[in-house]
Amino acid sequence: NLSLKLDKAFKTLKGQGSITEVNVATTMKEIRRALIDADVNYKVAKDVTDEIKEKALGQDVLTAVSPGQLLTKITNDELTQLMGGSHEDINIKGSPAVILISGLQGSGKTTFSGKLANMLKKQGNTVMLAACDIYRPAAIDQLKVLGEQIGVEVYAEPENKNAVQIANNAIKAAKDGGKKVLIVDTAGRLAVDEEMMNEISDLKKALDPSETLFVVDSMTGQDAVNTAKTFNERLNFDGVVLTKLDGDTRGGAAISIRRVVEKPIKFISHGEKMEAIDKFHPDRMANRILGMGDVVSLVEKAQQNFDEEEARRLNKKIRKNQFDFDDFLSQLEQIKKMGNIKDLMGMIPGMGKALKDIDVDDDSFKPIEAIIRSMTTEERATPDIINGSRRARIAKGSGTSVQQVNNLIKQFGDMRKMMKTMNKMGGGKRGLAALN
Ligand code: GDP
Ligand code: MG
Repeated sequence: NLSLKLDKAFKTLKGQGSITEVNVATTMKEIRRALIDADVNYKVAKDVTDEIKEKALGQDVLTAVSPGQLLTKITNDELTQLMGGSHEDINIKGSPAVILISGLQGSGKTTFSGKLANMLKKQGNTVMLAACDIYRPAAIDQLKVLGEQIGVEVYAEPENKNAVQIANNAIKAAKDGGKKVLIVDTAGRLAVDEEMMNEISDLKKALDPSETLFVVDSMTGQDAVNTAKTFNERLNFDGVVLTKLDGDTRGGAAISIRRVVEKPIKFISHGEKMEAIDKFHPDRMANRILGMGDVVSLVEKAQQNFDEEEARRLNKKIRKNQFDFDDFLSQLEQIKKMGNIKDLMGMIPGMGKALKDIDVDDDSFKPIEAIIRSMTTEERATPDIINGSRRARIAKGSGTSVQQVNNLIKQFGDMRKMMKTMNKMGGGKRGLAALN
């Protein structure tokens, strides 16, 4: 958890009036590492941290916030600005408005074309899709299946090998059909080559689209940046679509791409379902890149102090969404040995929030421990079975109130949800939980 690291880095600074060079240097190193972990390229990460440093130096630290919090805020703002500040919409102009989809093979163009059509349709537009991937017959079928699924007409000419011609005919068909938007799905190659570049730039010249989007797989890391650069030099596209953000990626490519091609990211895609598309919001992505809760770094930190075997076991259970009350108890015990409880608890997803406003000391754990110890083995392993009468029994047995038992079970549930989200987003290893 970056903000925690920052807080630590600035611990010594408490009470001082401003952020000083010496402290900033250490913290910038941490931030740079976090960015590189999130797939931001080294040069960009270095530039960014230099900029943050400049902004941070000499800033007065208000008594209400810690220097670490202030620096986190500056970092968050800076990343948000770097990714464009706010959301930028696509241009829909003309009759029909043509949206051209470009990108490498497998980047997710066809899937995204369907998603965008679905989204625009839901917003009340009449939409048509054009299948201009002339190389793979299966590509036409793929688009047709998606079109059927979302109730959008697909224009295709399976025998025609001229993409420009097909697209022009599709424009006519869309016009005749009174469609407002035509989305043109195109062919890609596995890597950038001249033929593909010629074809897509011919399409752009011939169709004069109101929006040309470049689709890129966010999991391809540095390659994503290079591909974006090449496509932009040839196409001068209007916006970027980042796909596969449901995978093991923190989305640092968003920063690098924006920085290198200076074009806004307009959509993110995070799954194969037609609904798995979102407008891109820089502030949310900044949050995601910085990370919120970090179980694994808790575990890693804990490893220095306690049983490595146990840490590995917990880590595994978290990843498998099998974290239960016994694990919770064991974690509490380990944490207690380590001191600095509030900081450490803040690293467990969902716990940071719960503990934000309370003073945590060893004694605050006593009722929690008592409650868990009053549960049966079965209840600890499958908390879902803890109904009203069981809660009453547990409260009695632990000398707490039903309210306290309810609170703990609710917190535990929230925590598990958060862990599940993290796992789904593939954030386990990299410690990511987007909380918005
Ligand atoms: P194209 O070759 O650029 O048209 O790419 P496709 O749309 O055919 O997608 C290639 C593969 O990636 C397919 O298996 C898609 O189901 C998958 N895919 C596309 N977008 C996403 C996404 O956002 N997340 C995930 N997990 N898979 C995706
Ligand atoms: Mg395709």
